[in-house]
This record gives sequence, C-alpha cells and structure tokens, in this order.
Amino acid sequence: MEKIQVKDRIFKVYMPESEIQKCVKAVADKISHDYKHRKPILCPVLTGSYLFVADLTRYIEFDAEVSFVRYSSYDGMSSTGKVKKILGFPEKCKGRDVIIVEDIVDSGLSMKFMIEELKKLEPASIAICTFFYKPGNFKEDFKVDYVGKEIPNDFIVGYGLDYDGVGRTYRDVYVVDDNE
Ligand code: 5GP
Ligand code: MG
Repeated sequence: MEKIQVKDRIFKVYMPESEIQKCVKAVADKISHDYKHRKPILCPVLTGSYLFVADLTRYIEFDAEVSFVRYSSYDGMSSTGKVKKILGFPEKCKGRDVIIVEDIVDSGLSMKFMIEELKKLEPASIAICTFFYKPGNFKEDFKVDYVGKEIPNDFIVGYGLDYDGVGRTYRDVYVVDDNE
C-alpha cells in the first residue's frame, strides 16, 4: 500500500515494515547485551509504543518485566506544551534498573517530565529507549540511550503512532504527503 488517508490527510510510505523490524532487532540486541547481568523493568509509554515494545520484548534475549505508563502531550499534529500524567510509574521501580520505552522523542518535553517523575521513586538507573528520534527538534539535555531511527522534523503515523487517535495500526510508517 503506497498511500493512505488518515482523517483529512494523505500519507505516503516512509519506512516499510522490513526496515522497521531490522531497527527494532538492532535495539533489542544492544539491550540484551547491556543488561545481560541485570533484570530491568521496561516501562513503555502508552499508547504509541505498544507495537514497538511488543516486537522489542520478543527480540530481547531475556524475559523482560513490562509495566506500562501513560503520559500525554500531543493534540492532533502538534505538542500542547504541557504533559499530563494518566498512569504513572509503579512503586516497584524503587531500586531497580528502569528502561523507559517511547515511540518517538520529539522536543523531549514529555520524556523530561517522565524522567523527573521516575527519579522520585529512586530507581537504581534510568535508560531511555525510543524508536524514532527527531534530533532537530530536541530541546532537552538528557541522553537518549537507544534509538531505532533518527528522522527529520516530519509528522509520521503508523507502527503505533497516531494522528488524532487513528492511523496507529499500520505495519509500515507513513509521512504526510505535501503534494496532496
Ligand atoms: P515531545 O514531548 O518529545 O515533543 O513529544 C513526544 C510525543 O509526541 C510522542 O510520544 C508522540 O506521542 C508525539 N509525537 C511527536 N512527534 C510525532 C510524530 O511525528 N507523529 C506522531 N504521531 N506523534 C508524534
Ligand atoms: Mg508517545
């Protein structure tokens, strides 16, 4: 499928499933290596990271503990500039190695907010894992430890990423088609 319509916009293929899977596997291999002697808790951020974490955990070579959190900042195609907690980090993060798993780090505002929230629970360590990363838009100072793919400042959908609540379930990732 070359082009799709999501609500009022036309999107074209940006990253096919085969390439996505290669990048997920590469991230999983790094995590498997780095956490060989530890038992981290993976905290994926709902809803966007649900497909990424499903694939990631099946490539990771240990039985990962998974505990979803939910924070939201986006409305339509842009950030509201405010982050809202809907489901926070679990108490069991105290003293543990935690990996926050995101679909995309854009300005970094949401992640910065979540890192500060998680720090209050005094985990042993915090690592950041995101499938997509937009370095051109990044305004924070934390280190992004694991990245699937760096991209320019395009608005994308699919593989968990939505446009106003829809467009998440596609296996490929799509970008707004400006010619339409
Ligand atoms: P940040 O706080 O880093 O600016 O934005 C992070 C959140 O914004 C992501 O978790 C994601 O929900 C949303 N977001 C940022 N860029 C995109 C994009 O290109 N497409 C979609 N669908 N969501 C995005
Ligand atoms: Mg997200």
